[in-house]
Amino acid sequence: MKNQTILQGFEWDLPADSAHWKTLQKKANELSSIGFTAVWLPPAYKGSSGVEDVGYGVYDHYDLGEFDQKETIPTKYGTKDEYLQAIQALQEEKLEVYADIVFNHLMGADETEIVPAVQYSSDDRTEAVSDEEEIEAWTKFTYPGRNGEYSDYVWTWKNFSGVDFDARSKSHAIYNFADKGWDNEVDNESGNFDYLMGCDLDMEHPETIEQLDRWGHWYQELTNIDGYRLDAVKHIQFDYYVDWLINRRKEKGRSLFVVGEYWSNDLEKLQTYLDSSGNLIFLFDVPLHFNLYEAANSNGSFDMRQIFKNTLVETREDYAVTFVDNHDTQKGQSLESWIDGWFKLHAYSLTLLRKQGIPVVFWGDLYGIPKQEIEPVGDSLQAMINLRSKLIFGNQIDYFDDSNCIGWVLTGDFDDPESGMAIIMTNGNGTEKEMTISAVHREKTFVDILGNNEAKVVLDENGKGVFPVNDGQVSVYVQEDVAQTFWEENK
Ligand code: CA
Repeated sequence: MKNQTILQGFEWDLPADSAHWKTLQKKANELSSIGFTAVWLPPAYKGSSGVEDVGYGVYDHYDLGEFDQKETIPTKYGTKDEYLQAIQALQEEKLEVYADIVFNHLMGADETEIVPAVQYSSDDRTEAVSDEEEIEAWTKFTYPGRNGEYSDYVWTWKNFSGVDFDARSKSHAIYNFADKGWDNEVDNESGNFDYLMGCDLDMEHPETIEQLDRWGHWYQELTNIDGYRLDAVKHIQFDYYVDWLINRRKEKGRSLFVVGEYWSNDLEKLQTYLDSSGNLIFLFDVPLHFNLYEAANSNGSFDMRQIFKNTLVETREDYAVTFVDNHDTQKGQSLESWIDGWFKLHAYSLTLLRKQGIPVVFWGDLYGIPKQEIEPVGDSLQAMINLRSKLIFGNQIDYFDDSNCIGWVLTGDFDDPESGMAIIMTNGNGTEKEMTISAVHREKTFVDILGNNEAKVVLDENGKGVFPVNDGQVSVYVQEDVAQTFWEENK
């Protein structure tokens, strides 16, 4: 089976020019040629900040850039028709398309309601700090601009567990409605991390569940999407998505790729989520991201042998989606932990050139982040995606035998004469490592496709070679003609 590589098809600071769906449509062929197998698109529905909304401040799931709401018809990325055209163009290039699903909250209600509520301590959401009182909450979603198209359901406070603002007293606090309590199985930070922002959806209320399911049916049929990225799953009842996803699978008639965003560096929490959500959902390997971040910021003192320690890709490899950076970790964002220049290629080789995990490449790394004056990573990143898409990896052997310098080989396969790879990286001084690729490729010449090192390494009759790496760099040795073909095609 072809190695999968997902593109995260957006970054936070894209211009709010409603042109991104068109851009993606135009790039469909290019993305396929680079070697991607799937693209994750940003949330496509109208957010409370209108054309400026990245998509996570969802106001109306049924408005995919079609209705005059929040002072705009198109979303930040374009209109509904452009969205559907982009999906179709990507699928015509044999790329799967994954949608970003935001079900934790709604924002930007149309009207207020007078609601019975109890204040909870912000530090401990299990501790009530007031008696029941009446507050004025922005919880009524009537969608006047959509006027009942697709659904005439009106969301009210009964669909939600709580809010963080009383419009009457102008107080900011965590309010839980009536005697609802919170979703019981969620992340335990602050006691209970059900509440994140906006109007928190009550995943124990039958009408909320029914409406989200009804929307899922409508959305999947309309878009023909191939899978889902689930936002903020640590703030949502852990088994909520089981029924929703089983229903989507039944409608699709095949399995769907699904990855959840559980933002935690605590491996145990990720495993608990996996164990509670029916093995239908992969998770982003957040602990690996933080290992990469730490290694990038340790001036060479990080023990590279531990780079996969306590990660999902080490412990639950079949459910790990690896990544280097994303729209939240980029500079200026809520989870900023940007992996800087010198280590970027180390990090990408540790995700793209490994058998374990399904890697995601970030738009901001592939195409740069103009607003932050961040340049694209460049040809070396494309070379890795290309190798991943073209070569049979075969078996993987790790040489994690030095605290600064690690390496591994991918043996390739007899049926793929271009295969075979040796990767070596250091966070310290230049050095070299003796590694055996495979006797299948004996006496062939290997060179660094990244061009960091000029060596020509000829394997001995048993497939062994000595591979050098320069100070603080990574080198990816492949057969000479494989590298030359790539360089000619990417001049
Ligand atoms: Ca929640």
